[in-house]
Amino acid sequence: MAAPHRIVILGGGSAGWMTACLMAARWLSKDAAQPVSITLVESPAIGIIGVGEGSTPQLKALFDRLGITEAEWMPACDATYKLGIRFTGWSERAGYDSYFHPFPSAIDLHTEGAFAHACRLKRGGIEAPAHPDHWFLPTKLADAKLGPHPDECFPFEPSYGYHFDAHKLGAFLGDHARGRGVTHVEARIADVERAASGAIAALLCEDGRRIEGDLFVDSSGFAALLAERTLGARFLPFAQNLFNDRAVVMPTPAAEAPPIATQATALSAGWAWSIPLTARTGNGYVYSSRHLSDDAAETELRRHLGMLDDPAEARFLKMKVGRLEDSWTANCLAVGLAQGFIEPLEATALHIVIATVEEFISAYEAGGFAAQHRAQFNARIARRYEGIRDYIVAHYRLNRRSGDYWREAAGLDHLSDDLKAMMTAWFTGQDMDETIARLDIAGFYASASWHCIFAGYGTFPDDAKLRAPATPQEQIDAAKATDFHARCALNFAPHAEQLAAWRVPPAPL
Ligand SMILES: Cc1cc2nc3c(=O)[nH]c(=O)nc-3n(C[C@H](O)[C@H](O)[C@H](O)COP(=O)(O)OP(=O)(O)OC[C@H]3O[C@@H](n4cnc5c(N)ncnc54)[C@H](O)[C@@H]3O)c2cc1C
Repeated sequence: MAAPHRIVILGGGSAGWMTACLMAARWLSKDAAQPVSITLVESPAIGIIGVGEGSTPQLKALFDRLGITEAEWMPACDATYKLGIRFTGWSERAGYDSYFHPFPSAIDLHTEGAFAHACRLKRGGIEAPAHPDHWFLPTKLADAKLGPHPDECFPFEPSYGYHFDAHKLGAFLGDHARGRGVTHVEARIADVERAASGAIAALLCEDGRRIEGDLFVDSSGFAALLAERTLGARFLPFAQNLFNDRAVVMPTPAAEAPPIATQATALSAGWAWSIPLTARTGNGYVYSSRHLSDDAAETELRRHLGMLDDPAEARFLKMKVGRLEDSWTANCLAVGLAQGFIEPLEATALHIVIATVEEFISAYEAGGFAAQHRAQFNARIARRYEGIRDYIVAHYRLNRRSGDYWREAAGLDHLSDDLKAMMTAWFTGQDMDETIARLDIAGFYASASWHCIFAGYGTFPDDAKLRAPATPQEQIDAAKATDFHARCALNFAPHAEQLAAWRVPPAPL
């Protein structure tokens, strides 16, 4: 099936421009016999949300696919590398105040099995070094502020994502898309024209212009103008198990040697992020308006940042947490915040944008607008949302912090069957890998991530529920892993040095 003839994208945030770049790479130059046009419409007066500054390794895959090098985009977007997320204060169990959730890769297979084994021993009541921080190379590199690119003689590259300035990333992708033939229209959409079939026929601009299309992409952010508000796609809120619906945001000056990890610190009614960029540090507090007023949240964030008396202004955002039942309705694909949002704890929003557009391209090429392909696509995307949502919910359900918000979160009982099965498996000594395979959820979060969260919080079965492993178990020596990581780390230069390598020196006068 050829590409849609005229593609119209509403919205010039990261989601809209990523969609434009991916569709342009796939469809603009492919079939000269049947020309394809891509038009992106956005309203500079409305602007973009301008947060969303951490990624998963999926963003690296996107740039690789577009043929854009780190030297080209990273300095332009004040970007730094990201090896994972350090969670602090989510558990009050002694020894488990903090843990690192890495992006594991092939090199970690050398130690991951021993980690899982240590967890299994501890789940059976046998003392073992089951804290995740012992077991992953990215954790060692992040603690030592080393960059992800090894020396040439070291044959493994860790998996990594990035931190970046969301406005600059949008602008960079916009330039790239325009350079590939995408038409950029600045206009505010005032109305939407429907065809007799109910599908979208055209977008009507405030200035009188009319933009016709065959496929419309709704990347209008939380406004959700096309899929939800025009076509009536059903929004399924996640409020029953994710309480946070607000964020307060406040940047601070850049660190001299930027960390190579996001910090996620639990506060009284949510959590604060710290995202290191080369030009500033992005900070924010994601909280529940049912548990905390905006003023109290701002004060708590200021206190957390040591900025109680600082005149810098805070910015507040409302979050609509949930997903569309169907991301693709009639001739409209929703992406980004218009499609859904699971709160930013694991920085997965852009990851889902990229996955959605890639899946859509395959589905469309397989069957055009045929209902069967659309239904299969919608089912796959819905499952991805639910799979990621479950892992995020686990952060709250497993917490051991005091305070009303945290006790309520620990008592959550609106859990999916998959999450219940994972918790049962962990607490009853079952094989986690077998459970993950049976549930078919490794594509969302792999075994290492599940082990990290359960063990990182120090959630092991109570003595009364212990089931000791049936066979005698070999003891685990974490010192071997520490030594392995120390030797591996000798092959990595400091993060700051790796970032400086991308900066082009100013031309001589
Ligand atoms: C607090 C917070 C933290 C986040 N952190 C992360 C993170 O760390 N990692 C991550 O991956 N994601 C994160 N996200 C999500 C991320 O911000 C978004 O997924 C990403 O920015 C994409 O947004 P968007 O393009 O969908 O929407 P927006 O950036 O809001 O863009 C919407 C576009 O639609 C246009 N538009 C709307 N209405 C009209 C109209 N009538 N006419 C014309 N144009 C219109 C606007 O002008 C704009 O161009 C976070 C989100 C929040 C709220």
